Amino acid sequence: MSTIAFLNIGMHGHVNPTLPVAAELVRRGHTVTYHTSPAFREEIEATGASVRLYPGGDQPLPDPPTPITLMEALARTALGLLPAVLADLRGDRPDLIVHDSACPWGALAARELGVPAASSFTTFAYNRHVPSPTRGSRELLAAAAARPRSLLGYTAARLALRRRFATSGVPLLDLADIRQPLNLVYTSRAFQPAVEEFDRSYRFVGPSIGARPDDPSFPSDRLRDPVLYASLGTVFNADPRLLRTFATALAPLGGTVVVSTGQTDPTALGPLPGNVLTRRSVPQLEVLDRAALFITHGGMNSVNEALFAGVPLLVVPQGADQPMVARRVVELGAGLSIRTENVTEDSVRAVARRLLEDSRFRAATAGLRATQREAGGYRRAADELERYLRPAGPAARPAPVPPQGG
Ligand code: UDP
Repeated sequence: MSTIAFLNIGMHGHVNPTLPVAAELVRRGHTVTYHTSPAFREEIEATGASVRLYPGGDQPLPDPPTPITLMEALARTALGLLPAVLADLRGDRPDLIVHDSACPWGALAARELGVPAASSFTTFAYNRHVPSPTRGSRELLAAAAARPRSLLGYTAARLALRRRFATSGVPLLDLADIRQPLNLVYTSRAFQPAVEEFDRSYRFVGPSIGARPDDPSFPSDRLRDPVLYASLGTVFNADPRLLRTFATALAPLGGTVVVSTGQTDPTALGPLPGNVLTRRSVPQLEVLDRAALFITHGGMNSVNEALFAGVPLLVVPQGADQPMVARRVVELGAGLSIRTENVTEDSVRAVARRLLEDSRFRAATAGLRATQREAGGYRRAADELERYLRPAGPAARPAPVPPQGG
């Protein structure tokens, strides 16, 4: 049996898919450690993994979350965390490190200790059709010019990393796209754009959906069909007016309308029709199992989970990779998309009606549901990691990727 260390950034969307994988590895008898911040402690401990806390408490998200502030935050965080992380890892002596593709300190620690590493992609895998947010580009240059202090902060932290650690496996700029000889991608080949461009180091294992802790406070028994669900995820500060519009647009079409308000206080939505249920957080997998329609910001996890459940989507992207995810949903016929500025009660209701009544959307989501399930999920991810670990020599391992920067 092996010791496997997970290292991640402090975002639910990046942590969630790894939890069932960690739980599965524990079930198979491996020792799993998970390096994280306090906010994630409880849910990680529930997998059976041992938590190793980063020093300094929770890591704030970069504000505003632009590519350049993200790069600065990642480089600075790596610099700050690495001494403690390396000390923990030296104590645990893992056989394998599994790090998020946007977790440079995971890749750096693996290099530093000479431990094999796998990377974990919770959005699409990146290529020229799906550009990583931190890829060198004209947009990145413009973002850097607009925030020279962030650029300076990034450069200083990146140079310090280079001075102190073995950085040859970590890209110079593209800190959100750190690849390894094994890259786990938590979506299906069918949903990944231009999938044929990826080599064998990429394994599209599909949504990693396992049991989540029960939420006894959620009134499942009050749900009436058709259940219509709206959520703008856990990261973006959702505009209460937008959430309110979803609720009032859907109320006449639904048995129960469930609105997850995330960072927004549910009372900020004002008085709502009697069949609308608002909560800061709902058991999303359970709600999707019942739902006939999902209005989403297009967070990759939410979309993967909806396609896993076969639920048609209305995507209202709020930023980050969400416009890309929205395009893919529309391209594959699994839903429709509206820009935030075009959201009105009438537009949302009209699109929702189309999605509920036109059977082509249901047929397309049913097809994707099958591919998402066949991809194998967390069990396949655990299989891939075990295969990678097996000391069967280099032939059993995917070909190494060339060094990315320095
Ligand atoms: N989620 C949940 N309950 C909620 C809202 C979200 O369990 O009320 C979960 C959801 O199942 C998904 C994650 O939070 O796994 C959100 O990730 P996503 O990538 O969709 O969006 P983000 O929050 O990162 O923008």
